[in-house]
Amino acid sequence: MDNLIELSKKMPKTELHLHIEGTFEPEQMFAIAQRNNVKLKYSTVDALKAAYQFTNLQDFLDLYYQGMSVLLHEADFYDLTMAYLEKVNSENVVHVEIFFDPQGHLSRGVSFDVQIRGIYNALQDAEKKWGMTSKLIMSFLRHLSEESAFDTLEQAKPYLSWIDGVGLDSSEVGHPPEKFLRVFEACKKLGLKVTAHAGEEGPPEYVWQAIDQIGVDRIDHGNRALEDDKLIDTIKERNLTLTVCPLSNLKLCVVNDMKDHPIRSMLKLGLNATVNSDDPAYFGGYMNDNYTSLINDTGISKEELFQLAKNGITGSWMEEHHKEQHLKQLNSLFA
Ligand SMILES: [Zn+2]
Repeated sequence: MDNLIELSKKMPKTELHLHIEGTFEPEQMFAIAQRNNVKLKYSTVDALKAAYQFTNLQDFLDLYYQGMSVLLHEADFYDLTMAYLEKVNSENVVHVEIFFDPQGHLSRGVSFDVQIRGIYNALQDAEKKWGMTSKLIMSFLRHLSEESAFDTLEQAKPYLSWIDGVGLDSSEVGHPPEKFLRVFEACKKLGLKVTAHAGEEGPPEYVWQAIDQIGVDRIDHGNRALEDDKLIDTIKERNLTLTVCPLSNLKLCVVNDMKDHPIRSMLKLGLNATVNSDDPAYFGGYMNDNYTSLINDTGISKEELFQLAKNGITGSWMEEHHKEQHLKQLNSLFA
């Protein structure tokens, strides 16, 4: 087991499901709040840390949106993004595809320009410094209207060369993918890739909608697709990747115990499951912690570990020559 953990730390990894606002560590949130004179509900870092011990989705979302409220300037978005990139660079993550939630900032009067410049410049610097490649995904908040998503797309238009894809996140149940059909159609016409959170808490029907109606290039989470055999076959036929988030699933009670996590079943069924951290500052760990937890609790084999890392490379949107290079490195590490 220790050998597998060592191997998982060394192997080249990709992160395909990561909300940059979900990487806010308490110390950094506190520091940025102080420099921006934003008052948090917590008077000390320790009090803030205690708030990270939430036990339900609503408490998480409250903290998540409170964390966002301290982000005001381009430098704040840069520092948040760079702190995450430094962390995962030290964990041998070679490529990241990160979500940001423009509506969560626009609604507070922070311009699209401020947000994206900070994030994009950090991604560019990570590539210069370490050769870490990246894609940026603008995510629509599904509890808001499609009209609001259209407004956001309009604001994004001057920056389309920096944006690779669009996603759909926030509270799933009651906000099915079909609510956003027209805006995703418009995004596809602009040449953007498309993904959507589906089947985390929502039923298999939402995954069907994401595939058949929106025509997603991949599925974020997808756990509940396992309830529908025909859906499993369709995901395989279309060779869609699932961006699975083990520690997030545990923290938000999508699974009750890591031992019951469905990721090995997904692999056995031939689905392209990958490992990702979702909102790592809030859910108990970054990439390596997610792998360690799977190794310790699910009895994952060396072959399965290899397959997960391989799926992360092949299911990413990185350039083909980069995929080949990382696959070669992965193969030699496991040889
Ligand atoms: Zn997510």
